[in-house]
Amino acid sequence: MSNRTFTMIKPDATNKGYTGAILDQIIKAGFTVKAMKWTKLTEEQAGLFYDIHRARPFFQELVDFMISGPIVAAILEKENAVADFRTLIGATNPAQAEEGTIRKLYAASIGENAVHGSDSDENAAIEGDFFFSKLERF
Ligand code: ATP
Ligand code: MG
Repeated sequence: MSNRTFTMIKPDATNKGYTGAILDQIIKAGFTVKAMKWTKLTEEQAGLFYDIHRARPFFQELVDFMISGPIVAAILEKENAVADFRTLIGATNPAQAEEGTIRKLYAASIGENAVHGSDSDENAAIEGDFFFSKLERF
């Protein structure tokens, strides 16, 4: 069990002005920010980040969406971080997300779903390394 996960606030949420509210909810849920940056992905970077979905029919739509505005990338720390963060954000499809979850509150659709959360300890480490150097985290 790891105590770290990785998140991105996605372009739909940054474009709609939800960044502050989402960060507030994450911090109030007990996560500590260990690294953070506000940036905009290139098409190549978005494709690499979601490389596991390259063969899926929605891959190009996903990449186009992920480059449609800025994102906030962050490494978060909390006991049981990966599982607890997935609970906090809710189901991939906001229509199926629990009341009070970030996706229920801020996501519009399965494609434009406001936040990313790592699905395993291994991927949390890989995704954190994708965005942050040793100098940029603690
Ligand atoms: P994320 O990895 O972003 O946290 P997730 O783990 O809940 O989301 P995945 O199955 O990993 O869901 O899908 C990655 C992303 O691809 C989703 O968050 C969503 O933006 C997009 N996506 C997934 N399924 C669909 C779909 N059927 N149509 C359009 N986009 C989709
Ligand atoms: Mg995923």
